[in-house]
Amino acid sequence: MTERIFNFSAGPAVIPVPVLEEAQSAMLSLPGVGMSVMEISHRSKTFDEIIQGAEAGLRELLNIPKDYTVLFLQGGASLQFAMVPMNFLSLDSSADYIVTGSWGKKAAKEAQKFGNVDMAANMADGGFTRVPNQDELQLNPSAAYVHMTSNETIEGVEFKTEPDVSDVPLVADMSSNILSKPIPIEKYGLIYAGAQKNMGPSGVTVVIMREDLLPRIREGLATMLDYNTHAKNKSLYNTPNTWGIYILNLVCKWLKEKGGLAGMQEENEAKAKLIYDAIDQTDFYRGHADPDSRSVMNVTFRLPSEDLEKKFASEATAAGMDGLKGHRSVGGIRASIYNAFPREGCEALVEFMKEFQRKNG
Ligand SMILES: *Cc1c(COP(=O)(O)O)cnc(C)c1O
Repeated sequence: MTERIFNFSAGPAVIPVPVLEEAQSAMLSLPGVGMSVMEISHRSKTFDEIIQGAEAGLRELLNIPKDYTVLFLQGGASLQFAMVPMNFLSLDSSADYIVTGSWGKKAAKEAQKFGNVDMAANMADGGFTRVPNQDELQLNPSAAYVHMTSNETIEGVEFKTEPDVSDVPLVADMSSNILSKPIPIEKYGLIYAGAQKNMGPSGVTVVIMREDLLPRIREGLATMLDYNTHAKNKSLYNTPNTWGIYILNLVCKWLKEKGGLAGMQEENEAKAKLIYDAIDQTDFYRGHADPDSRSVMNVTFRLPSEDLEKKFASEATAAGMDGLKGHRSVGGIRASIYNAFPREGCEALVEFMKEFQRKNG
């Protein structure tokens, strides 16, 4: 197979074709270097330009203020579930968790190993169908931080604005919607995101952190698990994921050429609307999330039966649309439509949905 299909995978996910093409052309030799990026020292001038380019790209796209540090770590968002509490929580302090889906639940569970965790809101009751309103949040003004998941990848539930947490640092897992739209970074103390949803390949985790939090970090942590280590050494304490950072840099360049995040947001919303409109036009398809909390990145919906959902996913795959099966924990259908996912793929899915309903409805 040489032709690319429509890849609705939730992650690792679709990467922009121009990025793949550039990486392909530089696979044997980076221009002027004579070696691939995977074969050069992470302390070389060439790699230094790449990692600095990636940081500059993120800073420009996200308009990251100067007093924030940008880190390229490993271990995925899952390691951040532990690193955040290890660095900022202790047995005599507590953190507030706003749980709006499966990933937030995991983050809260991990944090309980390191200190006291309070549920500022737990939306499990409704089956994780919406984000809480401000007046539903039970916030502790002396919490070490408030943790939220800006977009719940599995349930397809997304915050449209930041909760107001006053002076408590807001920590956000943005793995599945970072770079999908402009965000007010200054409202956050720490943002983390695995790259493999919307920024590049797996194996690199971006952390964006307000520098005044660094002195609050607990003493005595393992060197590699201490944010100070990575901040002091500009993510080069040890060998970082050089390949991942290289691709991430190319993705940032691609986004800048496309006009940045405001344009990307418009395009992403238009793409999502095509599918949500198709869902809303019938009773055959039922959206999982409440309309106000619908994710622009992961569109989740159900069919009248699990058998039909299975049939839908397998016939879609046969029709060149892969990755539509919902997460094993919740079932249903999930269309992940990150930045690099083309609008034509959303149009093709809508056509397929209409046809599938006509035959099976
Ligand atoms: C995918 C995902 C994770 C897990 O990421 P890993 O990199 O596999 O650890 C965590 N949070 C969210 C919101 C995700 O989408």
